[in-house]
Amino acid sequence: MTAPVTCLRRVAWLVAWDAAAGRHVYLRDADLAFAGDTILQAGGHWEGVAAREIAGEALFVIPGLINIHCHPAQSPLFRGYVEEFGNPRLFYSSRHRFRQCFLPDAEAQLAAARYGLAELLAGGVTTAVDLSHAYPGWLDLLAESGLRAVAAPMFRSAAWYTDTGQETQYEWSADLGEAAFAEAGAVMEQAERHPSRRLSAMVSPAQVDTCTPDLLTRSAALARRTGRPLHTHAAQSLAEFAGMARRHDTTPIAFLHRLGFLGPRTIVGHAVFTDEHPWLVWPTREDLALLAGSDTAVAHCPLVFLRDGTLLHDLGRYLEAGITIAIGTDTHPQSLLEEMRLAELLARAAAGPRHRCDTAAIFHSATIGAARVLGRDDLGRLAAGARADIVACRLDHPAMQPVRDPLRNLIHVAAERAIRDVWVAGEQRVAEGTVLPIDMASAARALGVQQGRLDAEARRRDPEAWQDDAAAPPSLRHAAGPL
Ligand SMILES: [Zn+2]
Repeated sequence: MTAPVTCLRRVAWLVAWDAAAGRHVYLRDADLAFAGDTILQAGGHWEGVAAREIAGEALFVIPGLINIHCHPAQSPLFRGYVEEFGNPRLFYSSRHRFRQCFLPDAEAQLAAARYGLAELLAGGVTTAVDLSHAYPGWLDLLAESGLRAVAAPMFRSAAWYTDTGQETQYEWSADLGEAAFAEAGAVMEQAERHPSRRLSAMVSPAQVDTCTPDLLTRSAALARRTGRPLHTHAAQSLAEFAGMARRHDTTPIAFLHRLGFLGPRTIVGHAVFTDEHPWLVWPTREDLALLAGSDTAVAHCPLVFLRDGTLLHDLGRYLEAGITIAIGTDTHPQSLLEEMRLAELLARAAAGPRHRCDTAAIFHSATIGAARVLGRDDLGRLAAGARADIVACRLDHPAMQPVRDPLRNLIHVAAERAIRDVWVAGEQRVAEGTVLPIDMASAARALGVQQGRLDAEARRRDPEAWQDDAAAPPSLRHAAGPL
């Protein structure tokens, strides 16, 4: 039985993929027809029958966005705690006492991810790379969310902590790394066999400085053998750069290159502190060439760095060097559109008047760039034969007016406020702004319950750190009224 056809009829503005030119283009007054998980026609007039017709006169339709890097089982739990403080004595790393006593367990992670995955869908994301330490119920929840999801179970040979707040310390356990590597292998196979058929897997040694060279090498070999993409966090803080330089006499990027870790299916999150970064004094200037030469992609997540006053220098140079860029959220809020806006603006802040980055390049990164590194030439684009991952935005939302350039309006003004409907694999997952697979209101309540429990546990675990809320000070002091 062939699937019934849905036709978005006479869409006012459609972003379609011009394969010959290798770029997204605007089509006006265009039909978009799809059946099951396949786009039948993007643009022109659909002559065939359609079981469902949707009026497109007030719509701006784009391909579903790809979030290349997120931690939905963690990020939503930190809302209200981490927006304004890192650890300045550790180059603003996230290693501080709050994170050592506020410890999400499986129950909290499940609640966070339920909210977090719904948040992604509501924001126009149709494919998400979920980097998590595997927890019970994870894969079923990914499937239940309705997203196309890449499960990236993280593993590592060392846990990091700080006693002093001034130094990253590592507790090494090669056995732990082995066990976690084996467990991640099993989880990845489960993901690929999942009956939803919307899950895939990514090999994800957690961080360059917490994995033994042997574990990183074997991860790369596993990725190549299985055809899965490969990811690690690297060049993400000054402290990490300095530690790797001390340990291996090389930059984190050059270290990965030396191990044979880089390649066309490798993603480095976040490659901020390459040897080009102006805060570093290092004798080489080869990291960007190593990334570009090996066709390695960078997962760029500007907000989490911006919170600590840090930024990548500069995105335009990375693009110009030929490095594939994909965009992720990494922290909360998980708004890919906001990250896209920041990516473009911060590229200008970093480069000054000679910036080489624009809205089209960022949109390309969040769709085609990410699809390339996932090995999916059928995602991130509206074209006949591509997968039916589609986002319809309201042109009649005030933040989308006036409609001279709706992509700019969406990224620079409206963000998810304009998103009306989302389809993943041809199934409608957001309708009139409401996420269908997950009830966001009850997910938000459950998230709040879990955050409250973790907060109470953190205070019991380390009462000294929480004296006067010092571990995570609120933005305003609490007081008693009337005043
Ligand atoms: Zn991350």
